[in-house]
Amino acid sequence: MLKGKAAIVTGSTSGIGLGIARALAAQGADVLLNGFGEPAQIKALVAELAAQYQVRVVHNGADISAPDQVAAMAAQCVSEFGAVDILVNNAGIQHTATVEEFPAEKWEQVIAINLSSNFYACKAALPHMRRRDWGRIINVASAHGLVASATKSAYVAAKHGVVGLTKVIALETARTGITCNAICPGFVLTPLVQKQIDDLAAREGISESEARMKLLGDKQPSLEFATPEQIGGLAVFLCSASADQIRGTTLSIDGGWTAQ
Ligand code: NAD
Repeated sequence: MLKGKAAIVTGSTSGIGLGIARALAAQGADVLLNGFGEPAQIKALVAELAAQYQVRVVHNGADISAPDQVAAMAAQCVSEFGAVDILVNNAGIQHTATVEEFPAEKWEQVIAINLSSNFYACKAALPHMRRRDWGRIINVASAHGLVASATKSAYVAAKHGVVGLTKVIALETARTGITCNAICPGFVLTPLVQKQIDDLAAREGISESEARMKLLGDKQPSLEFATPEQIGGLAVFLCSASADQIRGTTLSIDGGWTAQ
């Protein structure tokens, strides 16, 4: 379905981004991976995806909180694949503390990586999408783009911001073949969430599996994690023609979290 399309997936060396990159590659898209990691592991990942899905795969190590690096990443996608058709703004970080205890520099970092990066990447990618009058921008927001939790001020503010930015871009592209939407996952068992499980277990003196169930029990009625594969499937659907008129909305994949 996506043969001949070029995709950038930020934060795709791990977790949800990697799940989305795999799903797009499985549909035939050429993929620019982005994110940090061991150079040897990243090299192996690039080779694995290219061989498994018979598509072109490259890696760009841009720090997506730096606008010039993001612009260079989009330029690399164009020079390697001839276009930027699909942009998945996925990279993100978490930091938890009450507002009084939240370090100002952590606030700035979470806003830069989780929100401003999406603006920089959209700004860099949109001219290329307009050139071909087709594009898909998929912002990986969160259930925390729709509702809040204590101790996550910067993350919740950034993800609500991502939902707002998604709506503006959808309006600015409404009469084009470009769509912009946000996916709002609940808990997905990735390194980002594993850290929260480990912190909870240490804080409350409980086992890892008890901490896992407590985390889910507090928020996610299904008591099951969403998976990177499921989120990849939703991203592929958003790239399909069936989704041509899905614009500026949020799609929850959260085990019922935000139905409460
Ligand atoms: P993860 O920690 O497994 O992966 C994060 C990725 O982002 C990694 O590839 C990392 O190298 C990259 N990254 C981090 N900072 C970066 C930077 N400055 N520049 C470039 N790349 C950077 O996390 P994940 O759980 O897969 O999260 C992915 C996205 O999904 C995030 O935006 C997160 O907020 C969102 N999300 C996650 C969950 C969850 O439960 N895991 C739920 C809702 C939303």
